[in-house]
Amino acid sequence: MEKRTNLTGLSKAELAEFIEQIGEPAYRGRQIFGALHQRRLQSFEEITELPKALRERLQKEATASTLKVESRYISEDGTRRYLMKTHDNLPVETVFIPEERRDTICFSSQSGCPLQCTFCLTAQLGLLRSLTPGEIVEQIIIALNDAYGVGEKPPRGTNLVGMGAGEPFLNFDSLMKALGIMADPQGLFIVPHRVTVSTAGVVPRIRELATLTQRPNLAISLAAPTDNLRDELMPINKKWPIGELLGACKEFEQTIKAGERFTFEYVMLDGINDSGEQARQLANLLNRYDLHARVNLIPHNPADPLPYQPSPMARVESFKYILESKGVRTFVRRPRGRDIFAACGQLAARRETNTIQQSIGA
Ligand code: SAH
Repeated sequence: MEKRTNLTGLSKAELAEFIEQIGEPAYRGRQIFGALHQRRLQSFEEITELPKALRERLQKEATASTLKVESRYISEDGTRRYLMKTHDNLPVETVFIPEERRDTICFSSQSGCPLQCTFCLTAQLGLLRSLTPGEIVEQIIIALNDAYGVGEKPPRGTNLVGMGAGEPFLNFDSLMKALGIMADPQGLFIVPHRVTVSTAGVVPRIRELATLTQRPNLAISLAAPTDNLRDELMPINKKWPIGELLGACKEFEQTIKAGERFTFEYVMLDGINDSGEQARQLANLLNRYDLHARVNLIPHNPADPLPYQPSPMARVESFKYILESKGVRTFVRRPRGRDIFAACGQLAARRETNTIQQSIGA
C-alpha cells in the first residue's frame, strides 16, 4: 500500500497546509499546486523552482503522479484510449475524444465496476476498487499532456464525462473532491458546467446532488422503460426501481439552473428494448413524471462476450421519431472509438485492438 500522500489529490488549501506541516512556507504549496495542475507536471524533479532539498524530501514523503500509462490505442476516428495502472497494479482507462469545437475526456471513477449491467463489458471485471481524487485528476492531466504536450493550453475547450469504468455515485466524495480540484482557476480550470457525470441510478446521491450548487451536469442511464426489463438489464434497479429513480430525477430537475444539462442515456439493444411499443412506454413514463430531460439514444457497442447486437439504424430512427412525436427531445449519439474498445461499455482493460498500438513513456 502506498503510504505517501498523493499531492495531485489535494486542493490548493490542503496542499498549502501539507507544506506548512513539513515546515515549509505555505506559498510553496501554491507553487506546487500550479506546477501539478496548470503546468501539468508529473514529478517533483521537474518543479525546478523548488529548492533541490525540498524536491528530494517530497520524493520521499509524497507522490506527484501515481498512474502509469501501460498502452495507448488510437482509433481511426482520432479517439485515444489509455490503459493505465495504479500503484497497486489495477487497470484504469481513460478516453480522449477530439471533436471539432471541443475535446471530451471520458474518465473512470473506479477500477472495474460493482454493478452487473448485462450490456456493459466493464461489469465483467467486477469492482477492483474505487479511485482516489488524485487518480481521477491524473487521468485528465495524462490525456491533455499526451494530446497537446506537457502543460500546453488546449486549443479547444475541454469537456469531461464521468462515463468510463465504474459507478461515479458509489465513489461520490472522491469524485466531488476531484471536480473541485479541477475547477481551480490556478489549476486545470475545468469548471463543473463542462463536466457531465453519468449514474446507473444511485438515488440517494441524485437527491444529494439536487441540494448542491457547485455540481456537474447529470446523466441517468435508463436502458429500459419497465421495471421488469430494467431489473434484468441493470440489477441496480432492484434496489432503486424506476419509480424511485424518476422521482429523484424530478427533484433534481426542479433545481436546474440556466446552463445546466440533464439527460437520460438509453442504450439500444437489438430486439430487447428498441420496439415501437417500448418507445411509447418510455415517452409515457417520462411524461408521467413530468420530466423534460433529453434522451440520448446510444447504439449498443458490441463486444465479444456480450449477448447483444446494436439496433439497426432504422429502428433507432423510428424509436426517436416516436419519442419526439410525444414531446420527448431525443438525440442519437454517434459511437466513437469502437475499433479500439474505447466506446461506451467497452472498457474492460482490453489489450487487443484492430489498429496499431503505440506505447508512450510512463
Ligand atoms: N456507471 C455509470 C457510468 C458508466 S457507463 C452509468 O451507468 O451511467 C456510461 C454509459 O454507457 C451508460 O449510459 C451506459 O448505459 C452506456 N453503456 C454501457 N455499456 C454499453 C454498451 N455496450 N454500448 C453502448 N453503451 C453502453
